[in-house]
Amino acid sequence: MAHAPQSPFALLDLDALLSEEERAIRDVVRDYVEVRIKPEVGDWFETGTIPARELARELGGLGVLGMHLEGYGCAGTSAVAYGLACLELEAGDSGIRSLVSVQGSLAMYAIHAFGSEEHKAEWLPRMAAGEAIGCFGLTEPDFGSNPSGMRTSAKRDGDDWVLDGTKMWITNGTVADVAVVWARTDDGIRGFVVPTSTPGFSAREIHKKLSLRASVTAELVLEGVRLPADAVLPGVKGLRGPLSCLNEARFGIVFGVMGAARDSLQAAIDYALAREQFDRPIAGFQLTQQKLADMALELQKGYLLALHLGRLKDAGQITPQMVSVGKLNNVREALRIAREARTILGGSGITTEYSPLRHANNLESVLTYEGTSEIHTLVVGQALTGLPAYR
Ligand SMILES: Cc1cc2nc3c(=O)[nH]c(=O)nc-3n(C[C@H](O)[C@H](O)[C@H](O)COP(=O)(O)OP(=O)(O)OC[C@H]3O[C@@H](n4cnc5c(N)ncnc54)[C@H](O)[C@@H]3O)c2cc1C
Repeated sequence: MAHAPQSPFALLDLDALLSEEERAIRDVVRDYVEVRIKPEVGDWFETGTIPARELARELGGLGVLGMHLEGYGCAGTSAVAYGLACLELEAGDSGIRSLVSVQGSLAMYAIHAFGSEEHKAEWLPRMAAGEAIGCFGLTEPDFGSNPSGMRTSAKRDGDDWVLDGTKMWITNGTVADVAVVWARTDDGIRGFVVPTSTPGFSAREIHKKLSLRASVTAELVLEGVRLPADAVLPGVKGLRGPLSCLNEARFGIVFGVMGAARDSLQAAIDYALAREQFDRPIAGFQLTQQKLADMALELQKGYLLALHLGRLKDAGQITPQMVSVGKLNNVREALRIAREARTILGGSGITTEYSPLRHANNLESVLTYEGTSEIHTLVVGQALTGLPAYR
């Protein structure tokens, strides 16, 4: 006898682990994604363009930009609520979640955690509202996994700073109003708040991408960018600055990618129930059910891991090593789920009409950015053995 199909997260009644407020925030973001993102994102992906400014204002209105930060127009929600928002956004597309992560967890977080009172008052309220867009420049053409070798320099000239260098793969780069740029100084690595209208600053969009096409990715060039003395972030010196921002954004990814995985699995279930071969729905074949069951298991485990890390973060007990475990596992499993879901869609699975292959392509970028899967593996390896293998 046939029973009504269950949604993937209903299997273990995981909603019961969320508070009413967390569910309410999640539902608002989910509704936005259903109405605004899902109908259009296939086209944005195909054409490699997004209405970034329009979306930023809408996302600001929704309250998700810097939502886990306190004050300055930010919502001040829990880490779990922020994670759930990332999950719903990434169920739409990793590119949309990236826009929000870079804005809130990289650019805004850097200013919030390490900026002066003037930096915060000038930028955070407009960034929370989506009226100003931020980007975060750490990676360089020759220094990705090892940012400590960066060549971008900031030199004193009288009271001013003068920045020179190139940053690569910078999300939101060409649409940003402000860039948080990390540069080498006589005093170690420092962060700078750089209005993108400053003479000498330019951004060039990177084209020909096969992944994260519904996201702006750019190269930043800084040629004699002259900034006042107070452009430096006063609150941090050394690589601890950018690395702590990355840790914030990685936390959002641990949740976010489970959204791409959930959407892929749901697309596979819906398709398998509707598609008939050999005179019956392909969902009724045991091989299809094995794929669906295995995907659902990994989805529940990844979501539970994200939730565990979220509760630890809200309790102030999360460590970077824990975030590495979450990022490594959840991105890897989400990518497997998206690819496996695509197989169930057969030929239909290779167009933008269905989401799984778009999610899988996006997740290839997510596997690489915010610390590659290899680097997170080595972080876990070091935790287990005490031996750092990446140097
Ligand atoms: C779409 C997209 C958006 C991005 N957005 C931003 C952004 O907004 N801001 C920003 O600053 N950066 C951003 N990045 C850059 C991203 O963080 C880097 O691509 C990433 O850190 C990897 O650096 P890399 O590409 O130079 O690769 P590399 O560091 O050259 O790595 C190449 C390969 O070598 C491996 N490897 C490197 N070192 C070791 C080691 N010690 N042991 C074992 N394996 C190793 C890596 O794991 C990888 O497999 C973005 C990247 C992408 C693709």
